Amino acid sequence: MTLQIELSGVNKYYGAFHALKNIDLSIKKGTFVALVGPSGCGKSTLLRSLAGLETISGGDMRIAGKLMNGVPPRKRDVAMVFQSYALYPHMTVEENLTYSLRIRGVKKAEARKAAEEVAATTGLSQLMKRYPRELSGGQRQRVAMSRAIIRDPQAFLFDEPLSNLDAALRVHMRKEIRSLHDRLHATSVYVTHDQIEAMTMADHVVVMKDGVIEQQGSPIELYDAPVNRFVAGFIGSPAMNFVPAIVGDDGLHLSLQFGAGLAAGNLRLNQPLKPGSRILAGIRPEHIQLTEAGKGQFSLPVAVVETTGSATFITTATTPEISMVVQGRSNVKSGEQVGFAIDPALVHLFDETTGKRI
Ligand code: ATP
Repeated sequence: MTLQIELSGVNKYYGAFHALKNIDLSIKKGTFVALVGPSGCGKSTLLRSLAGLETISGGDMRIAGKLMNGVPPRKRDVAMVFQSYALYPHMTVEENLTYSLRIRGVKKAEARKAAEEVAATTGLSQLMKRYPRELSGGQRQRVAMSRAIIRDPQAFLFDEPLSNLDAALRVHMRKEIRSLHDRLHATSVYVTHDQIEAMTMADHVVVMKDGVIEQQGSPIELYDAPVNRFVAGFIGSPAMNFVPAIVGDDGLHLSLQFGAGLAAGNLRLNQPLKPGSRILAGIRPEHIQLTEAGKGQFSLPVAVVETTGSATFITTATTPEISMVVQGRSNVKSGEQVGFAIDPALVHLFDETTGKRI
């Protein structure tokens, strides 16, 4: 597979502020990549640098094999799709679509034919004569995407394109964007702060924090083997529980420490660790099973029980608190003492100080 986008050692400074730190990223043609991370981690800066809207301070950036350092945005052959749509309000859908072709000298009839073809793919054929103000949010988003598609770019760059839409439409548009990507055999880079969006849409997820790539891989790789506490806590919903733990005298058991002298459970380790050492145990809410009191490795008091109908969320009255998810309903009540069972193979272990995966 050929590489469509290649970043090596990319750095970006805003004055003294180091916004991108030694970014290495290789994106194969046809891949959907999500850049995800908390506010201010540098994901938009990375995307804007790819588009040529920011000048990088160091490193190399290649698109379709060509070095892009210093190449102006319009010569990069990439198309940006923003959350603000950036449609021309005084132009119809058709004019919005044909505009970029017309300014490149494409004949009117040819541009119109291209617009009709794209509109058929994106479901806009019936709306070509409307103005942006006469469209719903989802339809505007489709016009913005169609305008990108019509240029047949080397890559699509999405900057949080769905954050203006309501929750239901967002879920719908996720699928629409992903299926368009597949049909067009496109290469897409998608910025979002929403890890669910990243996990559900992308083939390859890049998790960033403070200008650094913390980890990149397939959604399942990130979920199954997060390299550190940050990624472990960021990927997955509800978020992973972290509990301080002490390795037993045999080096093969772990007891979880819930403050105030409450130690609970006796989790068997898959690998021997130094007896007496302190680590951080990471347990996903969906990996904890409810048992009868007295069964399972733990017995803990329940603080809060919430139900959505399809699932029940239980939070313990411990420090730190533990949250767990039970599929369907549960009779557990606040104040009860409940048994919990955890498959030790599903417990993640992290260094207490560095947060790195053990
Ligand atoms: P968000 O989700 O909030 O948009 P982000 O991950 O996209 O966050 P960036 O917009 O890439 O973050 O910004 C990364 C860091 O660089 C932030 O700390 C931001 O304050 C800083 N930054 C961005 N643009 C500039 C600028 N023009 N001048 C100075 N600092 C900037």
